[in-house]
Amino acid sequence: MFMGSELVGLEDIKARVRDAVDEQRARLREISGFLYENPELGSEELKAVELLISELGRHSFKVERDILGMPTAFCATFRGKGSGLRVAVIAEYDALPGVGHGCGHNLIAASAIGAGVAASKVMDNLDGEVLVVGTPAEEGHGPSGGAKVIMAERGFWDDINAAIMLHPSSSWGVGSRSLGISMVKMEFEGQTSHAAVNPQEGINALNAATLAFMATHMLRQEARRDANLVIHGIISEGGLATNVIPDRAVCDFGVRSSDDAYLDEMVDKVARCAEGAALAMGAKVKVTKKKLYSGKNINEPLVEVLWNNYHSQGVEMKPWEESINGMPMASTDFGDVSQKIPAAGSYISIAEPGTPGHSKQMADATMTERGQEAMIIGTKALAMTLVELLAEPEKLRKAKEFFDTH
Ligand SMILES: [Zn+2]
Ligand SMILES: [Zn+2]
Repeated sequence: MFMGSELVGLEDIKARVRDAVDEQRARLREISGFLYENPELGSEELKAVELLISELGRHSFKVERDILGMPTAFCATFRGKGSGLRVAVIAEYDALPGVGHGCGHNLIAASAIGAGVAASKVMDNLDGEVLVVGTPAEEGHGPSGGAKVIMAERGFWDDINAAIMLHPSSSWGVGSRSLGISMVKMEFEGQTSHAAVNPQEGINALNAATLAFMATHMLRQEARRDANLVIHGIISEGGLATNVIPDRAVCDFGVRSSDDAYLDEMVDKVARCAEGAALAMGAKVKVTKKKLYSGKNINEPLVEVLWNNYHSQGVEMKPWEESINGMPMASTDFGDVSQKIPAAGSYISIAEPGTPGHSKQMADATMTERGQEAMIIGTKALAMTLVELLAEPEKLRKAKEFFDTH
């Protein structure tokens, strides 16, 4: 509850955190620039974490590192004047092979630090806690891959009341959906033989894999059109020599949908394609299914608060009502956070529309004037949202109510 004597209302508190973000402009450029110059793959983000936690420590956050046995995960907390609700801003800082910060996670890290630190400057007026949570390996690399899922499975999010974040993009938006994703691996086993001399003695594992591919393609005909089904796959192993009938072939599929229950159903059907193909060819098959990320559970009240804090800065963006009904494109482990607690994500426009994600161009865009300015606007929106939720806890109650009923 807001009880301050110096700051008299939410608008004053918001103005103060916006100033506190402006005061950090040079530092946030340095932080995002250091990560840009020193890209580290997921689970290996040691330099990034060292920099981020030292910055939070310098601003009197209580920092826990190595959380849940993940060396590059951290949780930094700043307590207000009394006990109350706990709101989190999420940092990502992993890079991609070949294209460095081609997903712009250097800006996600800087914005989370900037928003957390700015919010901390008004916490002597507010009850509750602000958290900056460091989540490694969003791109899925290494043992901490998809850390937010590991954290969700281990109950990390359960005593946090809301989580927010931003992600660089080529357009602005708050509340867009994401797709759940599962992987299906098919390992076919057959029998080698000379492809010309005695093919009758062979069992062609590659033919079984090819048939499984065809059957999977045919599933699309019956796909539920409202569930945004995407199936994409490769043949990862398909034989060693043309004159040897292959006894081993492997397919890897990604299956995505905006409906998590339907996703499980389709994964079973894709697995059935492998079994049918193996049966037809007389091969054996081992199918391994693995759920990666859940789709986002959209929390409308929280999305509205975050959207308003962009809109009030003059950002021209789609109404949030349009975003939450838009086509979900990508998948993120933030989806798993949103399945546990009220959560809202936002996109900041750092490059011209059409700039490919996961590219060197996107990495370079993070350090342009436009990219940096977008990061500052996003950081202000995140900071204002953190303090708004603590100053007016009924908004968080509404978010929780919506979460419980949707
Ligand atoms: Zn990415
Ligand atoms: Zn990303």
